[in-house]
Parts: sequence; C-alpha cells; structure tokens
Amino acid sequence: MSGLWLLHGLLACTTPEAPESEQPMVVLVSIDTLRADHLSSYGYERKTSPFLDTLADSGVRFEYARSSSPWTLPAHATMLTGQLPSTHHIVDDSVSLSKETPILAEALQQKGWATGGVVSTMYVSSLFGFDRGFDFFEDFDLLSEKKNLSGTVDAENIIDTAISWFSKQPADKPVFLFLHFYDVHYAYEAPTPYDTQFDRAPQKGDLKYKNYFHFKKKKVDEAQQQHQIAQYDEEILYVDAQLKRLNDLLSTKRKNLKWVVTADHGEEFWERGSWGHAHTLYSEQLHIPLIVSGTDIPTNVIDSGWVGNHDVAPTIAAWGETTLDADGIDLNMFFSGAQSVPDRPMLAETTRFKTNRISLFEGGYRLEWDLNTGKSELFHTQEDIKETKDLSNIDPEIAVAFKARIEELLGKPWTAQEDGTVVLSKAIAFKDGRQKQSLQVQKGEQFQILPYDAPISFQTQTGEQQGPWYLVGGESTTGTALSIEQQKASRVELDDAAKKKLEQLGYIQND
Ligand SMILES: [Zn+2]
Repeated sequence: MSGLWLLHGLLACTTPEAPESEQPMVVLVSIDTLRADHLSSYGYERKTSPFLDTLADSGVRFEYARSSSPWTLPAHATMLTGQLPSTHHIVDDSVSLSKETPILAEALQQKGWATGGVVSTMYVSSLFGFDRGFDFFEDFDLLSEKKNLSGTVDAENIIDTAISWFSKQPADKPVFLFLHFYDVHYAYEAPTPYDTQFDRAPQKGDLKYKNYFHFKKKKVDEAQQQHQIAQYDEEILYVDAQLKRLNDLLSTKRKNLKWVVTADHGEEFWERGSWGHAHTLYSEQLHIPLIVSGTDIPTNVIDSGWVGNHDVAPTIAAWGETTLDADGIDLNMFFSGAQSVPDRPMLAETTRFKTNRISLFEGGYRLEWDLNTGKSELFHTQEDIKETKDLSNIDPEIAVAFKARIEELLGKPWTAQEDGTVVLSKAIAFKDGRQKQSLQVQKGEQFQILPYDAPISFQTQTGEQQGPWYLVGGESTTGTALSIEQQKASRVELDDAAKKKLEQLGYIQND
C-alpha cells in the first residue's frame, strides 16, 4: 500500500502543471474605424471600453496618435510596414503590397516567431498581400460573394479563431498575433445584449450608411444621429468584452505578454456635415487610439507626443530584435516618459470617393489641402484637437510653407528625359509648392503626382504622345520620355463579384 502511495507521489512530481511560457507574446489589435475620443480612457463620457481602460491604466496611452489615411487599405499598409502612403503607394484597390516591401509579420517570422493573423475585411486580406509572413492567416474567404463585408465575421469569430490557433502553439516559441475587427465599422449592429446598452435596439426604418455622397445630400435628424452614435459605441463595448475574453486566457498561459491596441482610422459623425470615413483628413477621421501595455511596459503613462500608425510596426519589430525599412520610429525609448517623442513631419492623404486630399502635421500644426478645389485650411491641432478653427488667413505664411514642405516630403520619383508636357488624367502634379493640372517640364526635371496610381502620359515638343505609364505596378519606362525611380506596389485585379459588393457598400462609385 505504501509503495503505491510512493508511486503516486513520484508521478505527481514528474507531471506537474505545465509552467507558464516565458517566451514573448505580442497581440496587435486593429479595431477598424475606432475614433480615439470614443474610448473612456480618452475622456469619452460613456463607459465603452472597460478592458481597454485597464490596459491603458497598466500601460502607455498615446494621446495624439494619427493615422496616415482615413480608410482601411492604406492605413493597414502603414500599420503593418511602418511606411507612409507616400512610400508604400497602396492608395487604391488597384494595387497591393509589393513582395519587396518589408512587413512586420515576415520580419518576426524570420526571427523564429510563430505568427498568426485573423482579419475581417478584404482590405486586410491576402488579396492585397497582407498574409505574407504569417504561419497562419485567416481572412474567412472574404472575397466570396456571400461572406465579404456584410458583417458575417464578428469579434466572437475572430477571438474563437485566434484561441484555436494559439492553443496549438508550442510554449517555447515567441508568438505574434494580429487581430483585425470590423464590428465598429458601419453597419453598427452589435449583438444582444450590447445593442441596448446605450440606446434603444435598432428598428426598421433606421438609417443604414450608404456612402459619403448620399449623406452629404440627405439630412439626418438629430435623434437618428444620436442613435447611430449609440450603436457605434455599443459595438466598441462588444469588441472590448471579446478582447477581455482573450486576455483572460492568454494571461494564464504567457508570462511575457504585450498588447498593442490601435485603429486604422476614425469616423465622421456629422462634424463636417457628413457621415463615415475616407473622404477627409480632419481629426475625427485621423485621430486614432494607441495603447501599449504588458510585460516591461511602464504603467499609467499618458504620452502627449505626436505619434503615428507608422510607428506601430517598428516598435513591435524591436521586441523581436529586428527592424523594418520604415518611415516610423521605434517608440520604446519614450515609454517611460523621460524622453519626449521628437516632432516629425507626417503626411496623410486620401484619394477615395473621388476626393484628392493631402495633409501635413508638423510643429503642432496641420494643413488640410483639398487638391480638387485648391482650398486649404490650417489648424493648430495641438491646441484645437477637434480642428474647428481655420488659421489659414491668420497665419498664411505657415500654410504656404507647409505646401512647399508637402512637395518636398512627397519625393520626386518621375524624371523627364526630354523637354515636353506631362499629360495628367484625373491626377495632380506639384511644382513650386502649387498643384498643377498639367506640367511643362525640361529634360532632367523631376516631379511627383497624386494619386500615385494614376495614368500619366507625355507629349514631346514635336507633338508625339507617349504613354500612359503608372508609378505603381506599371510596365517599365526604360527608354521612354519619362523614367521612374522606384516601383513599390503591385497591381491587383478585383473579380466582378467583389466589385459589385464594394459598389453596394459605397466603396466604389457607380457613375
Ligand atoms: Zn477601416
């Protein structure tokens, strides 16, 4: 009898509870369309984010984080490569990430990390090259007609899939998990009981988002506006609860766990007379949350430095002892608050919905430049975070200097090989700090155009027309009248079903 007890005791000693892994784990969360100012930790009056608030309290919260783009595809290209749109050139759904562009997941994979990605829109899917570097990448076949952007993949699906993959990862490997949530993106339809947390449940006759143009023309009454905002907030609460569910599990398995929570862009709620995103670069669309929390991260820090979504990938790459060819910087040295984040110029831009806008943040100011109308506005964003007071007539010299600076920062990838005229179709060139609809150039002159993926032709002095060529994904221009310094993106073709779906959702204008 005593022998059996001894045997039992030995077995107990040799099969202890599996120790918690001390290998690093990083969870990068992108909550699509989440405005910073709708999180409680950013001062919102509704309690939308109890879990994210605990992360903010136990970590570093960047007060002034900005996105480089007000829509999903370019913003995620920035978030995951550290490059601004002026570098990665992914500004429309005709282009995808080049295999030559370094991307966070691949850099970590090369360092021996297990890499998993779970996403819920085609704009962060394999179609645009976002699966590169992931051992496991679930995009739920988002290009099939039935499943695409219609809200069938919700936060619960994302977390279930993430847990299923994580549970198969060996404890002796570092892990990178990227999660993208589409719930807070319109249509806002949180599941019960979340759908009645801040307002009545949705009813027949409630508005559905159609597109920017629709709601610019159609007046939405105050009650309906408030209902939509309440529903948006309920979606935040729902995603927050799902993230807590994941954290409850991970925190028992991994001692060395870090969270990075951010968004690709925000959402306009009628601040400029419209609803949605992608059509302007004002604060409500570009001010995003950025919360970094976990092992070795200082607690309870509020950092008021200007940072951007281009800083996310370099910061995480540093934890994997690797680097990226990025425009952003590694923020680790600023977490303690002892050093200030340096003031850096940051470009943001959009050409979505037939808009053509570019923006520069620098020195606390921001210039918004509508290239279709030529109108520009200047804000002292540091003092006027909601950007309500246009200073362009008060400080006109700053606005002029910012335009020249934009031209300088955009770079000049095109070079004329002979004298002639650059012929632009639905594009704009820059020269001497001004926008140009057509451009006379001399041999050797360099210039940039927006959008980057617009066709560009050339008329020689003898009247011969050459082209068109494309900066991104086009054929080589070797031996022609124009040469291109670099091509970073690739072309992508959407199938008819995907185009139809995007049209229904207002992403593609059917005119
Ligand atoms: Zn988005």
